[in-house]
Amino acid sequence: MLPFKLIYHPHYDLNLGPHVFPSQKFRLIAETLLSERIAAKDDFLQPEKASDEDLLRVHTPSWVHKLKTGTLTASEIMKLEIPYSTELREAVWLAAGGSILAAQFALRDGFASNIGGGFHHAYPNHGEGFCAIHDVAVAIRRLQHDKSIARAIVVDTDVHHGNGTAAIFADDPTVFTLSIHQENNYPAHKPPSTVDLNMWDRAADSEYLDALLPAVEKALDEFRPDILFYIGGADPFCEDQLGGLSLTRKGLLERDRRTFELARRRNIPVATALAGGYARRVEDTVRIHINTILAARDVATAFPSAARATN
Ligand SMILES: [Zn+2]
Repeated sequence: MLPFKLIYHPHYDLNLGPHVFPSQKFRLIAETLLSERIAAKDDFLQPEKASDEDLLRVHTPSWVHKLKTGTLTASEIMKLEIPYSTELREAVWLAAGGSILAAQFALRDGFASNIGGGFHHAYPNHGEGFCAIHDVAVAIRRLQHDKSIARAIVVDTDVHHGNGTAAIFADDPTVFTLSIHQENNYPAHKPPSTVDLNMWDRAADSEYLDALLPAVEKALDEFRPDILFYIGGADPFCEDQLGGLSLTRKGLLERDRRTFELARRRNIPVATALAGGYARRVEDTVRIHINTILAARDVATAFPSAARATN
């Protein structure tokens, strides 16, 4: 039914119980895509867990070992801001496998969406802000290792700065990192991305799009990446509990659609991951993430010949 694959696993749930991070959203998104007939069952692929070798291209052996064995210190768990469990471990290994699979299928089909991942606050040697393993960085390193790509761009639209991404790729000229986020928000320390678009509190649709779209266009034209990883945060939404921007659902859809169009017009495959979303009503978060899939579908349909596979 969809012109590209959705990557999802029932064990993406981080097992958090009542927590500001609605980790049931992964399941709700997958179920809604099916029940509203946006996607059919065979549009979905289940990822395998990423291998330790994949993780170790980004993370330190010590951090991977601690996550595997559940031997994080109290201060490491505090920084992570979510409780450790074997389910959490399983979920983050799967999310990394999911972003690898999404990247591989994006190269094949022009688009692919991981209905999970986007854990952009994870650093090589520790986790932060609900993010233990940086799935997108793991996927980039795997594709580079396989020589499927040379250069990647990460466009991060989560309301919070992509500090882990910026730190991981700080000295790497093969990866362009672009983060658009609320300046007065978590994380306190924001290591520089290649391009940081710092938005003021309560910035609205037009101000946000006027900053984002020309920056993406310029980056794509000058850097000419082989793939675009899109971290599609739902938390710039005006009713988000952890965000302080004022984007509407319509504005967020416009953000996704126009970014994808810029990539598609240049034959650049797009792999998407979810990232944050803490709307008062979880239905809003689910709807915003689903709209990212719909935006990809519309752009893929409008520009069918741009997919690499058909070139
Ligand atoms: Zn966020």
